[in-house]
Amino acid sequence: MPRQEQARAPDVQASTVRAVVLRRGESGPRLVQAPRPEARKGQALVRTLRAGIDGTDEEVLRGAHGAFPPGRDELVLGHECLGEVVEAPPESGLVPGDRVVPLVRHGCGACEACARRADFCPTEGYREHGIKEMDGFFRDAWVDDPATLVKAPPGLDDLAVLVEPLSVVVKAFDEARRIQQRVPWFEEAGGFRGQRALMAGTGSLGTLGAFLLASEGMEVWALDRDADDAAAPALLREIGVKHVNTRERHVVDVAEQVGGFDLVLEATGAPQVAFDCVQTLAGNGCMAMLGVPADRPPLPVPADEIMRRMVLENQVLFGSVNSARRHFEEAMRRLADLRARWPGQVDRIVTHVFSPDEIVEAYQVRGPSVIKKVVDWTRGR
Ligand SMILES: [Zn+2]
Repeated sequence: MPRQEQARAPDVQASTVRAVVLRRGESGPRLVQAPRPEARKGQALVRTLRAGIDGTDEEVLRGAHGAFPPGRDELVLGHECLGEVVEAPPESGLVPGDRVVPLVRHGCGACEACARRADFCPTEGYREHGIKEMDGFFRDAWVDDPATLVKAPPGLDDLAVLVEPLSVVVKAFDEARRIQQRVPWFEEAGGFRGQRALMAGTGSLGTLGAFLLASEGMEVWALDRDADDAAAPALLREIGVKHVNTRERHVVDVAEQVGGFDLVLEATGAPQVAFDCVQTLAGNGCMAMLGVPADRPPLPVPADEIMRRMVLENQVLFGSVNSARRHFEEAMRRLADLRARWPGQVDRIVTHVFSPDEIVEAYQVRGPSVIKKVVDWTRGR
C-alpha cells in the first residue's frame, strides 16, 4: 500500500494543492502536494467541490485502462467532478462562484470527428481527464478550457457530481432511441414507454441507468450478484425496479419468463454477463455495451445461437463510450427531474462520502453497501 505523504490542507490560494495521484509502477492512490495550477490566458481556474470514484478509476489503478501524460510518471486521478469557478476569462460566460461539471474527453485535435464530437473520435489520439494522458480532478484546484465546462444549475447542489456518469447513460439511451426508429411502429407505439428494459450492473452507472429507464416509463429489471437487501437493489425496488441476482437465477431464464427485453444496457464490464445478456433480447430488441472489460481469459459463447437470433429477430448490439456536452446538459435536466420525482431515493445513490485524506480507504471500501463513493474536497480545506 502506498504511504500517505504528509498533506496539509491549503485553500486554492496557497502555493500547493492536495492531489491524489497514481505513480508509474504503483497500483494504489497517493495523496500528495502538487504545485497550485495557474490559469493561462483563456483558461479557467476551478476548485473541486466533489469528485466521484467509479470502476474506471479502479481499472486505471490496476493498469488495465488509461495512460500517463507523455513524459511523466504520474497521473492525477479522477474524472467525475463538480467544481466551482475561481477565475474565468470574461468571454467564457463563466463567473467566479459558478458551479461547473467538466467534460472528461478532449478531442485529438486532428480528426474530423473531434471537430464535432470528441466522443466519436476513431483515433487513439484523444485525452481523458484522470484516465488517459491528462490529469484528473482529484485535487483542490485545476485549470481547463472554459469550453469544456458545463454550468450546473444551483438546485442540483452536490448531487451534480453524478452528472458525468449519468451523461454516459443518457448518451447510450439516446443512441438506442435513434436506432429503434428503424422499427416502423416504434414512435407511434410510444417509444420505449411500456417496453421491458434490463440494466446489467448496479454500480453507480447501472443504478443511474435504472433510474433513467424507470423514469422513461419502462418496466425495468436490474441485474447484479447481490442479495435483494444490498443497497442498490433495495433502493431500486423503491422505484419499482425488479432485481435479478445472477447467483440465484440465470438472466436468460428470467428473459424467457418475461418474454425478452426490448432494451438492454450492459454496465458490468464482464464479458460473460454481456454475452448472457445478448441472449435476453426480445425480437427487434437493442442492446448497448457500456462496460470496458479488464483482461480475462477467452470466453466460450454460443456464437451460432446468438448469430441466428440476431439475424432472424432483427436485433442490434452496439457499443457506447464517453459522452458529449449535450449529454451533460441533458443529464443535468434529467437529474433534477429524477430528484423531483423520487426525492427520497435519488440522494441515496451517494452512499459514501470521504475526505481527501481518506482516499486510500475510499478506494478500498466496496461491497453490498456501496453504490456511489464521493470525495468531498471542501473537507480539510
Ligand atoms: Zn479525434
